[in-house]
Amino acid sequence: MTDHNRQSDKELYRALDLNENADQEEIAQQFRRLQLLYQPETLESAADRAYAAQKLAEIEKAYEILGDPARRAIYDGKPAPIVVGHDGEPESLTCANHPDRETLLRCNKCGKPICIACAVRTPVGYRCNQCVREQQNIYFNALGRDNIVALAVGFALTVVVAPIVGSLLGSIGFFGFFIAFIIGSGAGTLVARIIRRAVGNRRGRNLPHWALAGIILGVAPWAFIFLVAGGRAFLMLLLFAGLAIASAFPQLR
Ligand SMILES: [Zn+2]
Ligand SMILES: [Zn+2]
Repeated sequence: MTDHNRQSDKELYRALDLNENADQEEIAQQFRRLQLLYQPETLESAADRAYAAQKLAEIEKAYEILGDPARRAIYDGKPAPIVVGHDGEPESLTCANHPDRETLLRCNKCGKPICIACAVRTPVGYRCNQCVREQQNIYFNALGRDNIVALAVGFALTVVVAPIVGSLLGSIGFFGFFIAFIIGSGAGTLVARIIRRAVGNRRGRNLPHWALAGIILGVAPWAFIFLVAGGRAFLMLLLFAGLAIASAFPQLR
């Protein structure tokens, strides 16, 4: 992680073709020079224009961070300097998302000034929405097909297990409620484990919901059949499924 950050820091300097010791004045000058150099409108061929536009985007991204002493310090792995104005008070910043709001707060990942409404409190300090989102995208590594796999496995498991559970519990009388109560959570854990393995232990933002939909789709027809048939099996299956879902859902996150 640290190695990756260090490497991408150098990339920003490389994008501006600068030495890491360059002062702010040099960075600003170099940015303006490169910005003029890579104006896509001035170029003839489409390929050149596309290249220039890409370079321009890289240059602007790099300058957004290196051009701001506080953001640059954070990216260099140094503590952010407190900018003091002429009156000796810390110079107030304006929120990157709300230009009309003054703030003293910065995202502690990218250094962007953020107002309190834009700040997300995380265990490692205040962060901007964008950085939180990026962090989540690293965490959520599910592939597109994983949602469908979770739904299918959830369905396949419960559509087979629900009738067995319903008829077994129903046949042992009132005691079936206790059995349902005791084994429901355990069954949920097992289902969650099987689904997680089926999706290669990857995590997805919506994966638990897809798995839940599969589980409900598997249970629902049997619940309906037991309901129509009458007797306790319907309520026992409901209790069992409810406990199983309550324990499976959080484990799928
Ligand atoms: Zn940020
Ligand atoms: Zn804001």
